[in-house]
Amino acid sequence: MPISHKFLMVCEKCQAFCCQQVKPPITEKEKKDIINAGFTDHFIKIDEGIYEIQTNKNNSCPYLKDDCSCEIHTIKPILCKVWPVIPRYKNNKRSCIVIKCPLFPYLTEKEIQQAKKEANTIPLSVLAHLWKISPEIKQKYKQFEYKEI
Ligand code: SF4
Ligand code: SF4
Repeated sequence: MPISHKFLMVCEKCQAFCCQQVKPPITEKEKKDIINAGFTDHFIKIDEGIYEIQTNKNNSCPYLKDDCSCEIHTIKPILCKVWPVIPRYKNNKRSCIVIKCPLFPYLTEKEIQQAKKEANTIPLSVLAHLWKISPEIKQKYKQFEYKEI
């Protein structure tokens, strides 16, 4: 979720859908960087060197603030940083999609391509856990169209 005022207003209106549905898998380094920056440890280990943000009871991210901004914005996980671009790994090949969430019309092609570039640096060990989401959440994602980029 970007930090500019315009984008924050879009995300506030959307009620931070993405931060209420996802549990981004992250690397040990990302976890350490967040904790070393002084933020609360909300992570659970899901694999060797891979962690996940433990969501609140209402399924939202514990770093999500009331105004729909992110408490750890400057140091948030790369998967959060590149959203609504989402990396994939299919048939031994990396690719990305961009979700047409309410923020999509405000993104320039340059911003999308930059996010894609960063998304393609995410380790495959992280991507392996990315799509392990419940059928209920998958259903919610279907409210948005997406396109390959
Ligand atoms: S789904 Fe899109 S518009 Fe909604 S909070 Fe996330 S980035 Fe913002
Ligand atoms: S870390 Fe920040 S951007 Fe990522 S899901 Fe949580 S509140 Fe949203």
